[in-house]
Amino acid sequence: MTPDRPIFTGATLDRASKLRTDPAAVAALLADPTSVVVGATADGVVIERSGGPMLRRTPLDAIEPPILLGLENGRAVFAADVSESTDDLVSLREAGEVLPQAEGGLAAYAVALLNWHRRHRFCANCGAETAIAEAGLSRKCPNCRATHFPRTDPVVIMVVAHGTRLLLGRRSGWPANRYSVLAGFVSPGETPEEAVVREVREESGIEAYGARYITSQPWPFPASLMLGFEASANGGEPEVCDDELEAVGWFTLDQVTAAQREEGELRLPPSVSIARTLINGWVARISGSNA
Ligand SMILES: [Zn+2]
Repeated sequence: MTPDRPIFTGATLDRASKLRTDPAAVAALLADPTSVVVGATADGVVIERSGGPMLRRTPLDAIEPPILLGLENGRAVFAADVSESTDDLVSLREAGEVLPQAEGGLAAYAVALLNWHRRHRFCANCGAETAIAEAGLSRKCPNCRATHFPRTDPVVIMVVAHGTRLLLGRRSGWPANRYSVLAGFVSPGETPEEAVVREVREESGIEAYGARYITSQPWPFPASLMLGFEASANGGEPEVCDDELEAVGWFTLDQVTAAQREEGELRLPPSVSIARTLINGWVARISGSNA
């Protein structure tokens, strides 16, 4: 069964890769009265609550340097920082829950790109201040001439099953009884499938195998891309192996389905996360094959 589409996916605008390298075309878009701008902070966006909801698109005022997100039915959409006190600013998580799919994708794109510019003003190669290029899709160093592209950090997140049991862990500070699937950053020189096996071993002592890619989700807090996998294990007793988790264990299908209905003790991650998408997809598949 195909999982539900995670929020923050499905942006539909044309990212205008070619046009953004043409300064005259970008200048024309900046002068075009139909061009609009969406506003964002490090983890929030400005929305329009009436007649939607959707991201608020305001007419383009003075914007320098421009960060072009792309074209929406031929109309240019730019992104700009807004202050934390802006009216109708909501957290990116809340935006993902209330906005239509494509708008949630656009919100994630705007926040991810602005976050990268905020955190990468200086050249990683020589330390000089860099300048925005390609209408916001890269930065160029005037000193050593290096070009820097937006960073996306891959994270694997995985449903690990032993028959009809699921491996779940919890971090300290989470709401009471909340457990989720394990996750971790992909290391340099490592495939996502290898990262699945390593992270499961490091966090639980369990040996996972047969990692299969399921789906993905941009997670711009500040710059991750969550790569969702399913893997199998031959059982064994999970134990906390490092400081990342405070508890880890196997949970039965009955416990997990009860938690989906918010019954029983176990609490699952909220629907905003790909963790929940993966858990729901696994339950649907296992329940279907058991029926
Ligand atoms: Zn440089």
